[in-house]
Amino acid sequence: MTDCLFCNIVLGKIDSNSAGQNDLAFAFFDIAPVAPIHILIVPKRHIENANELQSTDAEVLAKMMSLSQELAEKHSLTDKGYRLVFNVGDDAGNTVPHLHMHLLGGRRLGWPPG
Ligand code: 5GP
Ligand code: ZN
Repeated sequence: MTDCLFCNIVLGKIDSNSAGQNDLAFAFFDIAPVAPIHILIVPKRHIENANELQSTDAEVLAKMMSLSQELAEKHSLTDKGYRLVFNVGDDAGNTVPHLHMHLLGGRRLGWPPG
């Protein structure tokens, strides 16, 4: 989608601080981090949000997960733990309509969310 912020980040048309990628997923550091490590992992192909995922998207979701595991390892988060979050819709505070998984770590994270 030409007017989608995260599609344009994937394409390199908008700058981001890249964190890694594979053939189907791209990761970059969040512009407004809420934890010492705050990375967004997105599909390279536009998908609106987690509620729109189809069974045919299984491979892209698996590649987002494998990238998150690599990044958790790279940033030394696996021992102490980390959180993976998909926000969907207004009540969850979802602001960008391109599927993204937040990888959060590097501090104790509260539960339940505020
Ligand atoms: P949401 O609230 O939709 O789950 O998360 C969207 C996230 O995207 C927010 O954490 C926000 O800080 C981040 N974000 C919004 N615009 C940009 C941008 O232009 N670059 C980067 N790196 N992150 C962004
Ligand atoms: Zn998009």
